[in-house]
Amino acid sequence: MSRKKNKRLTLILLAVTALLVVTAIGLAFTIGPWKTLKKSTKPGKNASKVTTAQKEKDTSDPDETTEEQPSITATEHAVTSEESTEDTTEPESTPESSEETTTETTPEPTATPEPTPEETTAETTPEPTPEPTPEPTATPVPETSAEPDPPKSNPGSSEYYDLSGMVIVIDPGHQAHANSDQEPVAPWSDETKAKVSAGTSGVATGRPEYAVTLEIGLRMRDILESMGATVIMTRTSNDVDISNIERAQIAVDNNADVFLRLHCDASDSSSARGIGVFVCSRGDYADSQVTWGNWLGNCLEESTGSHYRGCDASTRYSGLNWCTSVPSFLLEMGFMSNSDDDWLLSDPDYQQKICQGVAHFCYKMKQR
Ligand SMILES: [Zn+2]
Repeated sequence: MSRKKNKRLTLILLAVTALLVVTAIGLAFTIGPWKTLKKSTKPGKNASKVTTAQKEKDTSDPDETTEEQPSITATEHAVTSEESTEDTTEPESTPESSEETTTETTPEPTATPEPTPEETTAETTPEPTPEPTPEPTATPVPETSAEPDPPKSNPGSSEYYDLSGMVIVIDPGHQAHANSDQEPVAPWSDETKAKVSAGTSGVATGRPEYAVTLEIGLRMRDILESMGATVIMTRTSNDVDISNIERAQIAVDNNADVFLRLHCDASDSSSARGIGVFVCSRGDYADSQVTWGNWLGNCLEESTGSHYRGCDASTRYSGLNWCTSVPSFLLEMGFMSNSDDDWLLSDPDYQQKICQGVAHFCYKMKQR
């Protein structure tokens, strides 16, 4: 009997064990999938969070780019000093010096002081990524698509300015061959300077300044004329011999509303870049010239995204001294001694931006 009982107990234990095993397996199947679902759900939430975070980061990227500008401060200081030096060499002086007289370069210091705050920011920003900064800040889509395509502005366009009734004289600086013959620096002075200087050339493109100023000048003429202005060019080819006084006289004879002298700057400092404006400190509009000069510089800074270095008033440029009965401006559109500026000055899209800035300025002059 005891053996039979033991056998029965053994069988019962085996049966109970089997039931427990089956139950355990059943629970495992039931719980397993549930855990899996939970896991998959969590990842989904995380994914959406990541996406949001990424979006935030992307949005901040532009700002970061903008913030990088400050770091250039050191470079800018260097540029400032360089620009002063450069002015003497080619940049500021170059335009005038080359065209008018080497002596004129010296005065530039005045311009440097005002721009200092801006120069630092401007130069710094441009060097790393000149154009990138402006585009990100503004709405890329409109500007990019609008400026490159249309060679001329049409009525109704956001870039169109009604310039009807205006007489604008454009003087593309320099010419293929310099003329070292002397002429008076000003009606009130016995000092003389070369009739026309050679100008500078691009450090990257190798292009001569006189070719770039004419190229931009002709584009500017077409754009301003398309907006209704009467535009008179002092020259339409490079093979000419027209002194700075003769160029100024064309503006005087035509009683121009605006006389624009187009030049490209140069500097001993390859990092120097940006836009500069020079005006005469004497004449009928002596009290307004700097204000207007700043209009011009600010319009160009807005249209190109490049740094405006400031407006300097003096009597060192014969082409301005002989034209004091007309609002006259010597515009340094950029530094050909800086590879980035040099490439931009020969870039059709950038040239278009320069012309748009000038059109905006002329419109302000019409409404003044
Ligand atoms: Zn020049």
